[in-house]
Amino acid sequence: MDTVRVTFLGTGSIADMTRRCASTAVTLPGGDVILVDTGAGQEAMFGMRQLGIDPCRVRAIVLTHQHLDHAGGLPFVVTGIRFMSLAPGASRGRIEICAPAPAVDGLRGMCETLYPGIFGPWCLGDRATWHACDPWQYLWGLDLMEDGTAARALDLAPTGPAVPRPGAIATIATMAVSHGAPPLPAQAVRIDVAMPDGSMRRITFSGDSGPNLELGRVGPEPDLLVHEASSVEALGHDVDATSTIGHATAATAARVATRAKARRLALHHLGSSWSNRPEAARDEAARHFAGEILVPSDLDTVEV
Ligand SMILES: [Zn+2]
Repeated sequence: MDTVRVTFLGTGSIADMTRRCASTAVTLPGGDVILVDTGAGQEAMFGMRQLGIDPCRVRAIVLTHQHLDHAGGLPFVVTGIRFMSLAPGASRGRIEICAPAPAVDGLRGMCETLYPGIFGPWCLGDRATWHACDPWQYLWGLDLMEDGTAARALDLAPTGPAVPRPGAIATIATMAVSHGAPPLPAQAVRIDVAMPDGSMRRITFSGDSGPNLELGRVGPEPDLLVHEASSVEALGHDVDATSTIGHATAATAARVATRAKARRLALHHLGSSWSNRPEAARDEAARHFAGEILVPSDLDTVEV
């Protein structure tokens, strides 16, 4: 496979009961998977099984923040992988779990409460490693290595094109973002993927975030920017009210895409009042961004 496949397992939010909650699978050229958020329940596991994505190939789970619609599915994902990997021939590689540092203990505790012993020696054992993404660092990073291991990436340039690292198949970088009041540890995610021909692909996720033009410095020139659009100004939603609760409108997402020089923009994390009006979001974004704009539905895949 000479593309990166970005599969939207869920495109909605806790405020939208017509779509699955936020979760995206990034399938690397060799077949390994990076999961960005897990949805609220079984969305991620159910979607992967439905689409033929092997959950046992999940190398990393990156949580943008601890809200229910993004992290509630984590216990299903880790216990699902544990049971599926008992099958003969199943992959039993390491799993890197990356979350904002202040959320790690709570999220780990949630998994251990709902499935006692899940990270113990009889279950995932030392296959799973938790990473506390430091919110005080402008960029926190992890290299996924060809040999199945992972290593902290220490020299993440905040600007400039992606540079392949020797032996790494992908680099995950996170940056703290503002997500409303009360303040909540939240992060944007950049994934740089080394392609078989020596080139790179970059996918940047806003996570849940208010207006944040700095995303353009964190992940400049992404091949795909996946940005939340919780409301649409053209439908009468108040941009100030949206920003105050730490979210973005379609217009805001498009301005960020322009600033970042994104090639394509995918709008997700749709709000309940407009999730059946994707064309309104697309039209609004098109007034602020000249590149291709997608409003994916649940289970859509985009090749990058
Ligand atoms: Zn949130």
